[in-house]
Amino acid sequence: MKGLLVFAALLAAAFSKETFVGNQVLRIFVANEADVEKVKELEELQELQLDFWRGPGGQDVPTDVRVPFTSLQAVKIFLESNGIRYSILIDDLQTLVDEEQTQMICQHFMPQSLETFNYASYHTLDEIYNFMDLLVAANPNLVSKIQIGNSYEGRPLYVLKFSTGGTKRPAIWIDTGIHSREWVTQASGVWFAKKIVDSYGTDPSLTSILDNLDIFLEIVTNPDGFAFTHTKNRMWRKTRSINSGSACIGVDPNRNWDAGFGGSGASSNPCSETYRGPYANSEREVKAIVDFVKSHGNIKTFISIHSYSQLLLYPYGYTKTRASDYQELDNIAKAAVTALSSLYDTQYRYGSIITTIYQASGGTVDWTYNQGIKYSFTFELRDRGRYGFLLPANQIIPTAEETWLALMTIMEYTRDHPY
Ligand SMILES: [Zn+2]
Repeated sequence: MKGLLVFAALLAAAFSKETFVGNQVLRIFVANEADVEKVKELEELQELQLDFWRGPGGQDVPTDVRVPFTSLQAVKIFLESNGIRYSILIDDLQTLVDEEQTQMICQHFMPQSLETFNYASYHTLDEIYNFMDLLVAANPNLVSKIQIGNSYEGRPLYVLKFSTGGTKRPAIWIDTGIHSREWVTQASGVWFAKKIVDSYGTDPSLTSILDNLDIFLEIVTNPDGFAFTHTKNRMWRKTRSINSGSACIGVDPNRNWDAGFGGSGASSNPCSETYRGPYANSEREVKAIVDFVKSHGNIKTFISIHSYSQLLLYPYGYTKTRASDYQELDNIAKAAVTALSSLYDTQYRYGSIITTIYQASGGTVDWTYNQGIKYSFTFELRDRGRYGFLLPANQIIPTAEETWLALMTIMEYTRDHPY
C-alpha cells in the first residue's frame, strides 16, 4: 500500500496534477444576514483562491469552502474578527485525494468484463464508456447507447436507453455527473445501469415500469470536466469551455439552463464556480439535453443527480413562487426519502431548492419543470460534508443502493400517475 501511495504521488507529479497539500475545508456557520454578506465578500476576493463546495447560501445551510494552505490564515482571521463561527471539516484534503488514488490504482490492474467490473471503485471516463459497451453487448434487447451530441472538447455525449419496445413511450430521464467532481454520482449511475438490467424480469415492479416507460440514463453528463478531474484537478466542477475575455475556464452547467437565467444565485464572473455562462444553453453538454428533451417530447420524469448534502429537491430554485404541483412533488419527495432512509438510516431533507438550500438560477430541473415535465427532481447524495466530494469508494454501493429505493419510488409513482 505504501509503495502504491508513493507511486500515486509520482504519477501525480509526472502529470502535473493539482495538489491540495494543506488545503482545509471549513464549514462556516452564518448567524444572520450580515454574516452572509461577509462570507460573500470573502468569495469576491479572488486572490484567496477559495473553492466553495456549498453555498454561500442563507442562514439555514452552513457554507463549506476549500481554502488553499496559503489563504488559511487570512480566512480564519477574517472570520474570527467578524465573529463568524466555523469548524474544520477536512484537515488536509490531499490525504483524502491520495487515499482515493491508491484505491483506483489497485483497481486498474483488474481485467474488465461486466462480471469483474468493480462497482465499489471509482473509474475513469474510458472505463465507464467501456462499461456501457459491455452492458449493451450483453443486453442488446434491453439497452442501447445513443449519442446526443459532443462535449466542448469533442467527446461523445452518451445516453443509455433502457426500453422493451413501443414507439416513443413516455420516459424517465436520469443524469449523473453534470458536476464532474461529484464522483459518487457517476459511480452510482453505473450501478443503476447494472441494477436495471438485473432487475428486469426478476423484480416485478421494475419490470412493469420498463413495460410501460423507457428509461434514459446519462452517466457522464460532463465528460470534459470528468476527464479533467482524473488528469489534472480532482476538484473540477464546471465544463471546460474557454471564456472569451477571461483566463478562467468553464461554465457551471447547473446555472446555464433557460430558467431564470442570469438571476440571483448564479455568477456573471467566469472565474466563479457558479458562472452561468454568456447565455442560456451556451454549453454543449446542456444544449444536447435541451434538444433531446424537446425532440423526444414525452419525458414525464426528470431526475438530475448531484452530491453532496443528502437532499431531495424540486422546483423552484430561481424563484420563491411555489411550483403549481408543489404539494404533489412534496408528497413524492417525502415518500422517496422515507424509502431511501429505510435501508441504512441515511437522513435526507427535502423541499424546494430555494427554501431548502439557497437561491439558484438557471438550474436543470427548473427548466425541465417549466417544459411541462411535472416530476422534476434533483438529488444531492451522500454525505453531509465529512468527506464531501471525496466520499470513500466503500460508500459507493451503499449510496447507490439507498438512492435506488428513492428512484424506484419516483418511477413507480410515474407509472401509476400518468399525465
Ligand atoms: Zn452538483
